[in-house]
Amino acid sequence: MSRAWELAQVHVKELSPYVPGTQPMDTGWVKLNTNECPYPPSPRVAEAVAAEVARLPLYPNPASVPLREAIARRLGVTSGQVLVGNGSDDVLNLLARVYCGRDAPAGQTFPSYSLYPVLTALQAARLLSVPFEEDMRLPVSKLAELRAPLLYLTAPNAPTGVGFALEELRALAEAFRGVLVVDEAYADFGDVTALPLAREYGHVVVTRSFSKSYALAGLRVGFAVASAEVVDLLDRVRESYNVNRLSQAGALAAWEDEGYLREVVAKVRATREAFRGWLEGRGWQVYPSQANFVFGEPVRQGKRGEAVARGLFEWLRERKILVRYFGGHALTAGRLRISIGTDADMARVREAMEQWEANA
Ligand SMILES: *Cc1c(COP(=O)(O)O)cnc(C)c1O
Repeated sequence: MSRAWELAQVHVKELSPYVPGTQPMDTGWVKLNTNECPYPPSPRVAEAVAAEVARLPLYPNPASVPLREAIARRLGVTSGQVLVGNGSDDVLNLLARVYCGRDAPAGQTFPSYSLYPVLTALQAARLLSVPFEEDMRLPVSKLAELRAPLLYLTAPNAPTGVGFALEELRALAEAFRGVLVVDEAYADFGDVTALPLAREYGHVVVTRSFSKSYALAGLRVGFAVASAEVVDLLDRVRESYNVNRLSQAGALAAWEDEGYLREVVAKVRATREAFRGWLEGRGWQVYPSQANFVFGEPVRQGKRGEAVARGLFEWLRERKILVRYFGGHALTAGRLRISIGTDADMARVREAMEQWEANA
C-alpha cells in the first residue's frame, strides 16, 4: 500500500462503499432494478430548466429558498421546517453527520435501504439492526428499545414495499428516545405518510425524494420536513450550495404540477396491482406493496428458494430485463424486487417469465 493509502482514516479504509443498481450503458433494456419512474417528468420541468440556463453564471440560491417555501406551503409547515438536499441521500447523510459518531450509533430495520450502513460507517458509527419477521410487520417495541440517537425507518419499506399504519408509526415515535427518520422515498405511491408526526413531534423527521414519483432521479433533489431546530442543525453541516440551479428550478416546476404527479401515481399503482395479481395467480407469494415495486418469491414447478430466484434473475437479464436480486440473507435471497414499469414493460416481463416456467 502506498503512503497515501496508509495515511487515510481507518474507518474509510474499512468502508464497503454503496453498490448502486446496474445502469446499463447500451439501449434496449427493460430497466426494473432501481425503482425509477417509467414516465417522463412533467413537461413544465423542461421549460423551467431551459429558462434557468441563462442564469448559470450565477451561484444558486444557497438554501433553495423558493423550493423550501413551495414545499412548506403545500405541507402546512414553515419554510424553516424544510431542508432541501442533493437527492434525499444527501439529507440522509446530513442526518448521520449531525447525529452519528464513534459513540453514537444509528438504528435500522433489516431489510431496508442499503445506503444506511454506508452513511453510518462514514461517521465511524455502529449500525444496530432489527430484523423483520417474515410477515414484515413493524417491530415497534424492539425498535423503541434501541439505544441510538438516530433511527432510519424506510416507510413504505424497501425492498419489500410493505407500508405501516400511522398508528404504528405514532407508537414508535412515542416510545423511541432518539430522532426517528421516516424515509418516505416511496410514500407518494402509498396510503400513509408520517408528515402529521413530523409536525407534531420535534424528534420526527420525514424525508422525501423527487427521484421516484416525480421522475427526476437524474436531477438529484430530495427534502426533509422536521422541527426548525433539526433543520437548523442540518443547515450547519450541508454544503453551502448543495442543490444546483437547474435542479432547484426543475424540482420547483415538478412540485407545482400536482395534477401530473397524481396521474403518474395512479398509472403506476394500477399497473402494480395488475402485475401483483398476475404473479399471485402463478403461485408467487408477493407482499402487498405501497411503493412502485413488488417483492415476491418466484416459484417454478412447485420449487422456491434462492436457486430459483437467482435463476429467474439471470434468465431475465439474458433477455435484457433488469430486476433486483438481494442474495445473502434468508429474508431476501428467495425473492426478487421488480420495479413497476409501463404496461408494455410488464407485458415483456410476463412473457419472459412464462417462457422461464415452460423451460423447466
Ligand atoms: C431511492 C431511495 C432514496 C434516494 O432518493 P434520492 O432522492 O434519489 O437520493 C432514499 N431512500 C430510499 C429507501 C430509496 O429507495
